[in-house]
Amino acid sequence: MAHRALGDQSVQPLFRFAPTPNGYLHLGHAFSALANERLAKALSGEVLLRIEDIDQGRVRPDFVAAIHEDLDWLGLHYEGLVRVQSQHFDFYQTKAQVLIDRGLLYRCSCTRKDIKEQALQSGAGCDPDGAPLHQGLCRHTPLDPEQPFAWRLDMARALSTIDAPLMIHCLDEKRQRFERVAEPQRWGDVVLLRKDIPASYHLAVVVDDALQGISHVVRGQDLEASTDLHRLLQALLDLPSPVYYHHRLITDEDGQKLSKSKLSKPLRQWRAEGLSAREIRRLLGFEA
Ligand code: GLU
Repeated sequence: MAHRALGDQSVQPLFRFAPTPNGYLHLGHAFSALANERLAKALSGEVLLRIEDIDQGRVRPDFVAAIHEDLDWLGLHYEGLVRVQSQHFDFYQTKAQVLIDRGLLYRCSCTRKDIKEQALQSGAGCDPDGAPLHQGLCRHTPLDPEQPFAWRLDMARALSTIDAPLMIHCLDEKRQRFERVAEPQRWGDVVLLRKDIPASYHLAVVVDDALQGISHVVRGQDLEASTDLHRLLQALLDLPSPVYYHHRLITDEDGQKLSKSKLSKPLRQWRAEGLSAREIRRLLGFEA
């Protein structure tokens, strides 16, 4: 695996745009892809496209095709620069095995209901995504062999193996560098290999960023808290940590974040209504 050291100026900066094909791209995605393009241009870097399709039950081939078509239309071309996560489950499993061998993961067959009840009883609160925190109460109870299980990170144990504090290297809107301390403990005992899939978003994204030699991660502020966990996984797996820029989120008229679940208007619909790619770029502040 070719790793680049943080701040290594001798190699070209590498970025990635990493959509999940469970819906059509909307303006929020376009903003993120264009933010990657803009910073990559400014730093003479290149942007890769990563199709984050590990959740095979929710992704669809027509959405993958639509991603390519929409990005092409926007003027973002990634030929020869595409990675498809579902082709690399073995990599994620290999990395998880490293953590299993170090005793940092444990099997858990808790259901959502179990976790909610445990969190209520212990007053554990929620993780940054709003899910009840799992604090590992099941860790010492025997597993029911009939039940499917996930592999969870033993957060307390993991934290005890690293030199804290872990720093995250960031860029602000003006491209100024700053550092902040990662707070991965906010995620509790997070799932790294899901019950239904031999991977998870957090594990796959960290492994792929390293495997692809990504030097700059440009993504929305909605993923900023995930970066704290990603920084921990990088430390545990001895992987380099990219520089992060968390851009502002595009909001709709009510100030709500645009998301597929809110049925924000897909880019292709803007296109069908006659808007040009240039007009979309202008709308999002990327062209005068
Ligand atoms: N696949 C994620 C999404 O579509 C983005 C992940 C990332 O940029 O790290 O929201």
